[in-house]
Amino acid sequence: MSMDGRTCVVTGSARGIGRGIAEYLGAEGANVVINYRSSEEAANEAIDAIETAGGSAVAARADVTSRVEVEEMVDICHDAFGPADVLVNNAGITADTQFVDMTPEEWDRVMDVNLGGTFNCTQAFYDDIWNANEGRLINISSVVGKQGNFGQANYAAAKSGLFGFTRTIALELAQGGSTANCVAPGFTRTDMLESVPESVLERIVSGIPLERLAEVEDVAAVVRFLASEASSYVTGEVIDVNGGMDL
Ligand code: NAP
Repeated sequence: MSMDGRTCVVTGSARGIGRGIAEYLGAEGANVVINYRSSEEAANEAIDAIETAGGSAVAARADVTSRVEVEEMVDICHDAFGPADVLVNNAGITADTQFVDMTPEEWDRVMDVNLGGTFNCTQAFYDDIWNANEGRLINISSVVGKQGNFGQANYAAAKSGLFGFTRTIALELAQGGSTANCVAPGFTRTDMLESVPESVLERIVSGIPLERLAEVEDVAAVVRFLASEASSYVTGEVIDVNGGMDL
């Protein structure tokens, strides 16, 4: 079940959940492409952490909403490690506001990164994943895509859009022996939760059967399973990592 020599591209992996995924895969022997948009220093720290643990990593600056920059990321990946075996579409943003006040700009921005970025990166790496020996596409959705969430109509729509996208790509990739799955984390301790007041977090935790927020490692461990050969016969699925929130 080693990731030795597998090349994994993780979007938005200088910090947060993506960083956790990148370090987890790197520690297992994968060659990791650390994609970032603005967090250059953090991307270099992630590379240091992976190399210190004995792995290999390279940084690729690309805004996932830009087809040109995503193509440049493909070139960086190919030059450093060759074709990708695994693509993790993790880059994501929120722009929360109650629906009646939501501007078209807030709607578009969230769609462009969470859904459009996934489209751009999947298309750019599609041939790699198709041609890989058991390629893997893993899309990071959210419990919010299943349940909805007050003030997140844009984000919920984008994250549930990933479910249909993943199931369709799973059907198309299956003919080549590769898989596509979604991971739907619950509320996870990252910068994304920084704007959520502590009182709201306490209320959220009180509704979680496992009585805690997720740590990035909880999500990374499931992504690692989906990236590995152990998940060969799992495709088109949404794996919840939410402490039992929907029980
Ligand atoms: P985060 O700490 O806010 O990090 C977001 C990451 O996305 C950063 O690495 C950022 O890169 C990158 N990013 C944003 N826009 C980008 C763009 N246009 N191009 C390239 N990279 C971009 O968020 P997180 O909590 O780790 O979230 C990671 C994923 O998990 C997201 O898809 C999020 O929706 C999902 N998720 C999070 C939670 C949660 O509670 N935290 C729960 C469920 C699902 P830069 O820093 O370089 O800009």
